[in-house]
Amino acid sequence: MSTVHVHPVNDLIAHDTDGGDCPCGPRVEPVPSDDGSIGWLVVHHSLDGRELTEPEATR
Ligand SMILES: [Zn+2]
Repeated sequence: MSTVHVHPVNDLIAHDTDGGDCPCGPRVEPVPSDDGSIGWLVVHHSLDGRELTEPEATR
């Protein structure tokens, strides 16, 4: 099983990409691999306002 982190570069905070809880509240999505196993795509969110267009983002 592999985990891939996608996070904004040059963000205001340091994102935790070692498997711990990141303060940005990343979204985790399962990603099927070619060999049949399931990998994880961890999508981090920027904290400088770039992605704060959704009303639910403040919760
Ligand atoms: Zn993060």
